[in-house]
Amino acid sequence: MRELVERLRSGEILPSEHLEEIIQKIEEREGLLNAFITLDVEGARERARELDREVERGNARGLLFGLVFAVKDNIAVRGMRLTCGSRMLENYVSPYHATTVERILGEGAIIVGKANLDEFACGSSGETSYFGPTRNPHDPERVPGGSSSGPAVAVAAGMSDVSLGSDTGGSIRNPASFTGIFGFKPTYGLVSRYGLVDLAMSLDVIGPLSPDAEGIALTMEAIQGSDGRDATVREKRLPFLEALDTFSLEGVKVGYSESLLEGVEESVLGWFRKFLSLLEGMGAEVVEVDFPPVSKIWPLYYVIMYPEFASAMQRYSGLTYGHRAEGESLEEVMARSRSEALGREVKRRILLGTYLSMEKYERSFYERGKRLRRGLRAKVREVFREVDFLVSPTVPFLPFKLGERIEDPVKMYASDALTVLANLTGIPAINIPFGREGRLPVGVQVMGRWFEDHRVVALAKRVEERL
Ligand code: GLN
Repeated sequence: MRELVERLRSGEILPSEHLEEIIQKIEEREGLLNAFITLDVEGARERARELDREVERGNARGLLFGLVFAVKDNIAVRGMRLTCGSRMLENYVSPYHATTVERILGEGAIIVGKANLDEFACGSSGETSYFGPTRNPHDPERVPGGSSSGPAVAVAAGMSDVSLGSDTGGSIRNPASFTGIFGFKPTYGLVSRYGLVDLAMSLDVIGPLSPDAEGIALTMEAIQGSDGRDATVREKRLPFLEALDTFSLEGVKVGYSESLLEGVEESVLGWFRKFLSLLEGMGAEVVEVDFPPVSKIWPLYYVIMYPEFASAMQRYSGLTYGHRAEGESLEEVMARSRSEALGREVKRRILLGTYLSMEKYERSFYERGKRLRRGLRAKVREVFREVDFLVSPTVPFLPFKLGERIEDPVKMYASDALTVLANLTGIPAINIPFGREGRLPVGVQVMGRWFEDHRVVALAKRVEERL
């Protein structure tokens, strides 16, 4: 990706020429794949012409100069619809930019459209969007993963150079794994969430999806760092680009745990073992670490996420914004608006989250969940005293067929078994596209210490060079 930006900045290819190639891909593939909810081809062309003029004037600059982005449709882009994949916000237009959007534009990016997602980012398959499911470009009968289904498919099918997604329990890494690209979830507190519609605010982060590790590093370099509009972001900047060139696996300690392999499909396991040998071959020391079983970790995610989600969803009452139904009384307007405009999975989560937050249960569920989460953080801290990185498969199984898991939430939630750990503890994690079973991509996950994001991305780059 760095080379592409160089060529765009030097005028070897003009931003508008590059954009036309992408538009061509969109024309060919979007009809089948449904990666976008809103396309803004004319807006993108206008922006590209502005960038062309900067090249002509000899002042083309910006880390992302001329790169074409798709932005997940739960991240605000001023003047464009912000639907969250829901009928509730079908016609809602954002009056402002998310901080991350402002920052990529400030570095010369072009935004071509808003990408499809599971409704309000609730899902692991890309099937629950009000605007229809997104399909996997490697096999259109299969799901692309979710909830950042559109951002992943846009990149995997050449309909954007890079995408911005969000990850609450795996929503960047899971579709990256299913579509064979890189997807990075930063440390909680490194990237501003301003302008991201909340799913569960103590877990949500924005991060990039890209065909290569350089696209991840360039975008992270652009979007990281403090923001007066999100008090959870730290005063920190990490040297993503520098680490790409200097990081070495020599002498690095990598941990894995048999307990994180529990229930993982054979084919995925086979690739994961190959990954461990590759790391060893590159000079890393691979050791087994002791870890609680996955079956104890992932239910914790749901105990914390449901109540936070139910609370965030209270704003969609049909009164202030979003879909509004007719009704005789206030209650009727609210009840009808919500029942008409929200999908099944979203309703299920509101109900369960409300139940878990009831006064008589609050101490025993959410509070207890938070306590267990602190325990998990302590465990992870301990592991990272012993090793520099922790690795696992990204998703325990291969991309499945559309419709195969949608009726059974427990089977669907099993997709998140290995990704929620990074959200619950806040650590950075990346998906590296590593293998293929027939046409289907298989990913591996690398997790690192808090605020060692640049090392996680650099490790991915070293692995990419070997593939
Ligand atoms: N698949 C997970 C869920 O359904 C994660 C969603 C996300 O990360 N946004 O909650």
